[in-house]
Amino acid sequence: MSSPQSSRTGPLSLLEVHLDRVRRNYLALQKMLTRGADCAAVVKADAYGLGAAAIVPELYKANCRHFFATHASEGMAVRTALGDYEAQVYLLHGPAGATPEDIAHRKLVPVLNTPGDIEYWSGVAKKTGIKRSAVIHIDTGMNRLGLSAAETGWLKNNTDILKPLDVRYLMSHLACADTPEHPKNKEQLEKFRALTAQLGIPCRLSFANSAGIFLGADYHFDQVRPGCALYGINPQNTPSNPMQGVVTLKARILQIREAAAGETTGYGATYRMPTPVKLATISAGYADGYLRSITGNGMVYVGGQKCPVVGRVSMDAIVADVTAVKPLPPVGGWAEIIGQHQTVDDVAAQAGTIGYEILTSLGGRYTRVYAGQETT
Ligand SMILES: *Cc1c(COP(=O)(O)O)cnc(C)c1O
Repeated sequence: MSSPQSSRTGPLSLLEVHLDRVRRNYLALQKMLTRGADCAAVVKADAYGLGAAAIVPELYKANCRHFFATHASEGMAVRTALGDYEAQVYLLHGPAGATPEDIAHRKLVPVLNTPGDIEYWSGVAKKTGIKRSAVIHIDTGMNRLGLSAAETGWLKNNTDILKPLDVRYLMSHLACADTPEHPKNKEQLEKFRALTAQLGIPCRLSFANSAGIFLGADYHFDQVRPGCALYGINPQNTPSNPMQGVVTLKARILQIREAAAGETTGYGATYRMPTPVKLATISAGYADGYLRSITGNGMVYVGGQKCPVVGRVSMDAIVADVTAVKPLPPVGGWAEIIGQHQTVDDVAAQAGTIGYEILTSLGGRYTRVYAGQETT
C-alpha cells in the first residue's frame, strides 16, 4: 500500500536562479538613472546567497562595471568570477583581511570607514610609492560605519593624508530608504551634500542602495549601489514589487501520510489535527534556511494549491497539510517554497524577517541550477 513515487534519483531540493531576470532587474534600475549615474551591483555574501560566480558575469554582460563585496575574500572571488572582464571591485569592510599586496594584485578597492583605515591605507601607499585606490565612507546618520562629522572635520584639516591615494568616491549609506516618507532620508541627503561640500575633495559621489534609487534623482549622484532589488526583493514597503523574482525554490515530498483528528505532528506535538488530514513531509528545514520562526505561519504550494505548513519546522523537514490537493501529490513530487505562487518577501513575512535574511540563509544543500545565461 505504498504511495506512487515520482522520482527516486533526482535532487531532494532545488534552488533555481533565473539569471535573465537578474539582468532585467539590473537594466530596469539602470534605466531609472536619468542623470547618468553608474549603476553598481552589490554582490556581498555570495550575491545575497545566490552565487556570485554565476551572477557577476551576467551582470557584467548587462553592462555593470562596478561590484561591491564586503570581505577581501569575497572581493577576490568576484575578481575570479570576472576573469578577463574589466570592472571595479570594492570592499565594503575596508582593507582588512588581506595583505596590501593581495588587494593590489586582485585590483580591489577598499572602502575606508575610519580615520585608522585612512591612515593605514595612506601609509601603505606612501611606503610602496604606488597610488592606492580607495573609497571614503562618510556617515550621515546610519551610525554604523564611516567617518563621523568630527572625523570628517579631521580629514578636512589633514587632506595631505589623501595625497598618496586615488580617492574614487565619497560614499554614504541610507538607513530608512525603504520607507520613502521617513524624514531621515532627506536629513541624510542634506548631510551628505553638506559634508562632501565641506571636505572639498573633487570626487565622485555614491549614495543610494536599491531603495534609495526609488527616492528619486536627487539621491542618485554619480553611482548607486543596489543589492536586494537585483535579486527580486521588493526594495520599498510598497504593496506591488517593481522587481522580478529571480529564485525558484522547491523541495521534494518524502512521504504522504494520513493523520486522524486529535493526532499531532512534529517536535513538541504543538499542532493537533482538527480533522482527519493528509500530510506531506517535505525535504527542507531550518538547515536549508527555511527558518524555524516560520512555524505556525508557513505556506507551500503543491500542485498549484496553497498548503499550510503544520507543526514545528525541523532541521531537515517540514510537514504540510495537503488534504485539499486533488489528486493527492505523489511521493517525490515537488512542493514550491519560493516561485510562481509565493515570493521571497512572502516567505520572509511568514518568518517575521526580511527577504535578505531568507536568501542569505539558503544554505548549501540545494542543488543549484542557473538558468537564462546571456549567450554571447
Ligand atoms: C548592502 C549594502 C548596499 C545594498 O543594499 P540593498 O538594500 O540590498 O540595495 C548598499 N550599500 C551598502 C554600504 C551596503 O552595505
